[in-house]
Amino acid sequence: MSSEFDVIIVGGGAAGIGAARRLAAHGASALLLDASSRLGGRAYTQNLGGNPLDLGCEWLHSGDRNAWVGIAEASGFPVDRGEPPWAKAHPSIVRDEDGEEAARKAFGEWEERLRTIAAGSDRASDALEPGGAWNAYVRTIAGFMSGVGPEEISATDYLAYDDASTGKNWNLPLGYGTLVAASLPSSTSLRLATSAERIDLTADGVAVTTRAGTVHAGAAILTVSTAVLAGDAIRLPPGVDPWREAAAALPLGRNEKIFLEIGRDTAFEPDTHAYGNLHDPRSAAYTIRPNGWPVIEAFLGGEGANIVAEEGPAAGFSHAMAELVALFGSDVASAIRPIVATSWTRTASIGGAYSCALPGQSNARARLARPFEDRLFFAGEATHAHDFTTAHGAHDSGKRAADEALGALAVRQRLGRRGPLAAAGARTAR
Ligand SMILES: Cc1cc2nc3c(=O)[nH]c(=O)nc-3n(C[C@H](O)[C@H](O)[C@H](O)COP(=O)(O)OP(=O)(O)OC[C@H]3O[C@@H](n4cnc5c(N)ncnc54)[C@H](O)[C@@H]3O)c2cc1C
Repeated sequence: MSSEFDVIIVGGGAAGIGAARRLAAHGASALLLDASSRLGGRAYTQNLGGNPLDLGCEWLHSGDRNAWVGIAEASGFPVDRGEPPWAKAHPSIVRDEDGEEAARKAFGEWEERLRTIAAGSDRASDALEPGGAWNAYVRTIAGFMSGVGPEEISATDYLAYDDASTGKNWNLPLGYGTLVAASLPSSTSLRLATSAERIDLTADGVAVTTRAGTVHAGAAILTVSTAVLAGDAIRLPPGVDPWREAAAALPLGRNEKIFLEIGRDTAFEPDTHAYGNLHDPRSAAYTIRPNGWPVIEAFLGGEGANIVAEEGPAAGFSHAMAELVALFGSDVASAIRPIVATSWTRTASIGGAYSCALPGQSNARARLARPFEDRLFFAGEATHAHDFTTAHGAHDSGKRAADEALGALAVRQRLGRRGPLAAAGARTAR
């Protein structure tokens, strides 16, 4: 059976689109399949009330070395390089500034102790101060970053991200999801609402089976989340178990967002920030009127995100409303109304927010990123050595996997098995 495409990309999130862009730049033909009826995966901007709200990724982390910044600027998308709102507390809140200072100090000390335990148990909870007054706060922030409690975080993994981050957090006022979904090259063939159900190796490459039939290509790049990969939704060739095991060692944490609309005559200061409760690990971080929009965004992680994931959006709205009333007073209840809550954890084709290595498992990222039989290549945020959990890490992983696939196809051509790549006279990866 001759190949219809050089490469089939499974998953149209930031990694799949990063791979497609690299393949297109090298003249290789590609088919991208996504289970969902839209592109972008965990990059998803929904236009609600005229405001482009990012339900998934929102911040261009490490903006000064983030590939999406260059892509945005080349496509005419504005990039806001200003300070993120979380640097500016909402002025009307009665703040416990000493408490905030003590909480930040305790968090910094926990991060420092991670370096000591990384060489031992590697379990981030072992770096908590026994009976520490700010342990709930450490749990909340760890939940925002990793989506799980410190018991389930590898200290080595956590530090790999932290040490590589440049601390520049920029914004896309038109939406990160808008940019990602707009960035698929026009030369890439696209089939939405088409799940890959099975992938087999063939003499010439791979056969990917969907409900609509089987497609052949020289190679496949698999970019689905670790929750999907570790599950049984896609039947993979014999011998892939070590890759599935690596995915299971990188489970997705839980992070969810809730958006509330602010009524017209309220005095909320734009682009400001508030924490619900420094002593409650279920607490949300609130961004007030991001980009000046009449919206409050609540970001929940770990225990807080469990409220939405397990009890549903109504429970999440009640939790956020109670925290906002405690922060701004009871009048706020009549001034805001729920717009949307995310359900990343309950979405079968995603299954959570972002990956976090279990204690002792930080090398699972490298194990997952290895090619399989020079036919099957793995990308996705979880495969990045230090920019995991992000859309730019996902993009770069897709680019890396595309280069690996192009290299394997070039070797096969030299050995005499000519596919569409050779027929098109495509350039090979450098
Ligand atoms: C609430 C939240 C906030 C976040 N905030 C930020 C942030 O501010 N900055 C940042 O950089 N990152 C952030 N992230 C993380 C970022 O969104 C992800 O790391 C990144 O988008 C993952 O991209 P990906 O391509 O690896 O995976 P995905 O986006 O999950 O793409 C995988 C795709 O595979 C598809 N798929 C699944 N199964 C199949 C199948 N069988 N066949 C075909 N297709 C299939 C899915 O539909 C999906 O589209 C956030 C995530 C969440 C959930």
